Amino acid sequence: MVVSAAFQQTIRDLMRDTCWDVDADTRKLANVAGALPIGFDLCNNMFIRLDGAVGGAAYDAEHIGFREPSPAALISAMLFGAKRIPQLASLIPSRPDDACECSQCKGSGKLPMSQHTNCNLCGGVGWIADRYVF
Ligand SMILES: [Zn+2]
Repeated sequence: MVVSAAFQQTIRDLMRDTCWDVDADTRKLANVAGALPIGFDLCNNMFIRLDGAVGGAAYDAEHIGFREPSPAALISAMLFGAKRIPQLASLIPSRPDDACECSQCKGSGKLPMSQHTNCNLCGGVGWIADRYVF
């Protein structure tokens, strides 16, 4: 997975432009980690770091726990975060011509057992590519 300079600049711009919209604790966590707060998922404040890693912090946490960057996690986080920050949707790569339909969700982008949960294999776009450029 490749994260472009344009992606990083957009995340930086969004950090500057949208951080006023979150509480002081979340803003502090985001500033320390250099990450964009994208919203509150079930029990975690979610963040996207400049390298594309997705992380979460439980209420009152001192640090954000980041996962190893992965296209599916980043796509899913951007689809989730676009509810609060619509510009994130424009950072999701277009489907390459040689992409395959996702074998798990059959292209729907949703888990078969829950039409409200993004597919964890493709992140919610319904396709799998050999290479992802964000
Ligand atoms: Zn899928």
